Amino acid sequence: IIEVRGLGKRYGDLEVLRGVDFALEPGDVFGVVGHSGAGKSTLLRCLNGLEDYQEGSVRVLGREVRELDEGGLKALRRDMGMIFQNFNLMERRTVGENVTFPLEVWGTPPREREARVTELLELVGLPDKRDQKPRALSGGQKQRVGIARALALNPRVLLCDEATSALDPKTTLSILDLLMDVNRRFGLTLVVVTHQMEVVKRICNKVVLLDGGVVQGAGETESLFLSPPEGLKKLVQDDYA
Ligand code: ATP
Ligand code: MG
Repeated sequence: IIEVRGLGKRYGDLEVLRGVDFALEPGDVFGVVGHSGAGKSTLLRCLNGLEDYQEGSVRVLGREVRELDEGGLKALRRDMGMIFQNFNLMERRTVGENVTFPLEVWGTPPREREARVTELLELVGLPDKRDQKPRALSGGQKQRVGIARALALNPRVLLCDEATSALDPKTTLSILDLLMDVNRRFGLTLVVVTHQMEVVKRICNKVVLLDGGVVQGAGETESLFLSPPEGLKKLVQDDYA
């Protein structure tokens, strides 16, 4: 569903990604780990066309991202939801209005939108928060709204950038459970950027370790943790989580 080959990305003279390779099957839960500045967020943004890249190939659902025109990029982003560390909710809109936003953008008729919002808020366990403003919610509840909004257009892939980094351990677990639930239920492919090793161990079946924009280790989570490459050992030992 995603194939990245020899990906290289520069900001001017600064090389941020070099020779990045990986391939994901539908339903994979893919962890992207590495220290701050390793290029994790940049990699995510290359996947949904928010960033251009200079070298290699990024294929998502059979499409080369760099070759997409505006309409193609819009369609790509419909197929790839995204959630964030700071939730990125619209504070002036209610929970329901946040969730309905992507449906408005795509011109879904109001009646269908309403039904879809009901369904999505049910799914994330917040049916009674529909008319609240985000400021009235806890961090975990905000991320649930973020997830509902990201799923509104039935994406095939969900990109998660440090989605649990602002949450306490218990709330983190409940969000990870929700992500696993949508992964199983809809066969949704997850790309999980995190610096929390616990997150990787709990939900990811594949993982890539980035350091200075270069892949230091990649593979099945289990084998990578059983015989970790140097970089990963260090991350685990640092108790980077
Ligand atoms: P963190 O864990 O802190 O979120 P990260 O692994 O997500 O880090 P990136 O945000 O991908 O790292 O940044 C990788 C490198 O690219 C950093 O050196 C950063 O300063 C640089 N960078 C990121 N965005 C830009 C930009 N828009 N212009 C120039 N340099 C950038
Ligand atoms: Mg980042």
